[in-house]
Amino acid sequence: MSKKYIKIETQANIENLAPIRLCLSTFFSNLNIHVDELVDIKTAISEAVSNAIDHAYDKDNGKVIAIGEIEGDFIHIIVQDFGKGIEDISLAMTPTYTTKAEEEHAGMGFTIMESFMDEVIVDSKVDEGTTITLTRRIRQRQSNI
Ligand code: ATP
Ligand code: MG
Repeated sequence: MSKKYIKIETQANIENLAPIRLCLSTFFSNLNIHVDELVDIKTAISEAVSNAIDHAYDKDNGKVIAIGEIEGDFIHIIVQDFGKGIEDISLAMTPTYTTKAEEEHAGMGFTIMESFMDEVIVDSKVDEGTTITLTRRIRQRQSNI
């Protein structure tokens, strides 16, 4: 099955969260995904991208690459950073675990991604960076009438 994709590279700044989300969600809306599913997908994109922005880099000059892929009924979202990486991935994915409680993080990002997507794969190496791959099968299409 042939894949279609879009790829966007930005600085890891909070101002780029909305543009990345808009770029990927507009790409996926070509599939006429039902609005309820698109809302879930946008939420998962936001959590993955905000993690790269909030946690990957101590300074402001890192980059984030976000890719949207369409493969039949499946969509994939890949968010990559080249920052500090995650030492213990299963601990990081535990609900309410956060290393930034003082900045009012709830530690719920990965839990939200897992509840809205069918598959969440975290690949991370300390001092090299993190790649999150989110997959969801599209179940409901919007009718055009
Ligand atoms: P919330 O998402 O509720 O604002 P949070 O971002 O701390 O809080 P999660 O998204 O579940 O919670 O992430 C858990 C922890 O995993 C983070 O606190 C951080 O330590 C680590 N982490 C997540 N993404 C990255 C990343 N891209 N690079 C480095 N560390 C990360
Ligand atoms: Mg988070």
